[in-house]
Amino acid sequence: MKYRLILLDRDGTLNYEAQNHHRDLSVLRPYPFSGPALRGLTDAGHRLALVTNQSGIARGYWSIDDVDRLHKRFFKEWGVEPKVYLCPHGPGGGCGCRKPLPGLVQRALADHQCTPAAALMVGDSLADAGAAQGAGVDFALVLTGRGRITRDLLSHPPAMLLDTVADLTGKFSA
Ligand SMILES: [Zn+2]
Repeated sequence: MKYRLILLDRDGTLNYEAQNHHRDLSVLRPYPFSGPALRGLTDAGHRLALVTNQSGIARGYWSIDDVDRLHKRFFKEWGVEPKVYLCPHGPGGGCGCRKPLPGLVQRALADHQCTPAAALMVGDSLADAGAAQGAGVDFALVLTGRGRITRDLLSHPPAMLLDTVADLTGKFSA
């Protein structure tokens, strides 16, 4: 199996982007295909982790408990429980974990004792591409969320181009 660890961005990759959510995470909805896709990857033996910027915490829009509750709801619906790597800081906060910095990806690799070559980062944004590149991990661009805009902005083609995260299922079998 080439990619033992699959690192997944959240917003725009697994759930609809929050538009006018009025600081209420309870309105966020996963894409209908996310649960089956994540279960398929898990069943095929991949380890999954969420790698997500949540500057709404630094901005005071919601708390880390609110985000935990959201993830519990998503994971219950999906039937999988990926480990979560989350940057709660804002832009300019001086942290090393906010994507496009590679801190979260590197932490996930270390936790899973995974080499960069055995991991894949899946996301819809330039920040995801940057974090993957910074950590030496292949990047799969999904065309959901901001993916179509990102496709036109990337300086290098991604390792994989996917209509949605569901296209990953069955991609690595055999
Ligand atoms: Zn951070």
